[in-house]
Amino acid sequence: MNALAATNRNFRLASKLLGIDSKLAKSLLIPFREVKVECTIPKDDGSLATYVGFRIQHDNSRGPMKGGIRYHPQVENDEVNALAQLMTWKAAVANIPYCGAKGGIGCDPSELSVSELERLTRVFTQKIHDLIGIQIDVPAPDMGTGPQTMAWILDEYSKFHGHSPAIVTGKPIDLGGSLGRDAATGRGVLFATEALLNQHGKTISGQRFVIQGFGNVGSWAAKLISEKGGKVVAVSDITGAIKNSEGLDIPSLLKHSKEHRGVRGFQGGDPIDPSSILLQDCDVLIPAALGGVINRENANEIKAKFVVEAANHPTDPEADEILKKKGVVILPDILANSGGVTVSYFEWVQNIQGFMWDEEKVNKELKTYMTKGFKDVKEMCKTHDCDLRMGAFTLAVNRVARATLLRGWEA
Ligand code: GLU
Repeated sequence: MNALAATNRNFRLASKLLGIDSKLAKSLLIPFREVKVECTIPKDDGSLATYVGFRIQHDNSRGPMKGGIRYHPQVENDEVNALAQLMTWKAAVANIPYCGAKGGIGCDPSELSVSELERLTRVFTQKIHDLIGIQIDVPAPDMGTGPQTMAWILDEYSKFHGHSPAIVTGKPIDLGGSLGRDAATGRGVLFATEALLNQHGKTISGQRFVIQGFGNVGSWAAKLISEKGGKVVAVSDITGAIKNSEGLDIPSLLKHSKEHRGVRGFQGGDPIDPSSILLQDCDVLIPAALGGVINRENANEIKAKFVVEAANHPTDPEADEILKKKGVVILPDILANSGGVTVSYFEWVQNIQGFMWDEEKVNKELKTYMTKGFKDVKEMCKTHDCDLRMGAFTLAVNRVARATLLRGWEA
């Protein structure tokens, strides 16, 4: 099932549990605006290259639209659409005053030079600058983008609209970025996992973790989990996968991955087939890379007791059913990885106030939001006698539906 079909299915199941009528459901599902733009840049060798850029704004009932910009070869309309919709539900679960958007460019950033990436980002910003805004739609980093990408967007946008630090989040600290934003998604994963394990009478220490993906989210999650005493027994990224049943030395692995641009070749463990990473023996499996990786092909062979979705939509609905039957507990993406957009919200608030918080305050507030999100989801699970994914979806859809009804449709 593709990402959009899977996301729509979860939305429909939640709407049914909530008793939302079909007309309101239709209005909640159809995106507010979908934009597809041509981005042509001169390459360093003087030749021209054309890429397709997207920005899909899903809903704006609870506040400005918010979501990342992804640079990846798999960026296409349905995928961005699903991710934009997930941002609406994610912001609602976190109870921050945003709805969802997502954007991206279909490209392989590893094949572009820094100056080509800068030109591409600036052309994309020129094409969408009049559709985004501090109170309209606020982009952030996602896969293949980072603080530097946000700095270029900020600069290009400011040429049209005047200096506007709050137009993007996840920007460099020197340009008004928030302390703690870089680690936020990984830290949020830690807080959400702690809440889940505590509820099952367990703690991070003593559990064995497997992490798929060692980019921003996976590497921060690994670092923070190992600092809390969790044993990270296997990790993978696009370069390879590495296993050590005694627990990987994460600070050394981080150093190795920085120096060698990947985990491959790390001496503190044994190399394993990257396609077997999700099937490794562990207590907690954390997919922190692409969507759709847990599907009917592999769900039966998963050995973890808990799956914490640090990536967006890593679990296909068919796999959801298989895992449920096996008794595996899944902490859904729209709760588990909401730490990133939550600290984006703190960054936006700081920019608007013109006041900077210290990192301790950022992390403390993040913990409060993540813990509350988990508690609110559990309440919905009780009310609707459902699993955590439906608990999160019913919580979110209910909040967005209430806001939509209150605002009304009168033209
Ligand atoms: N790209 C991140 C996500 O998928 C962060 C979005 C944001 O901070 O706006 O949640």
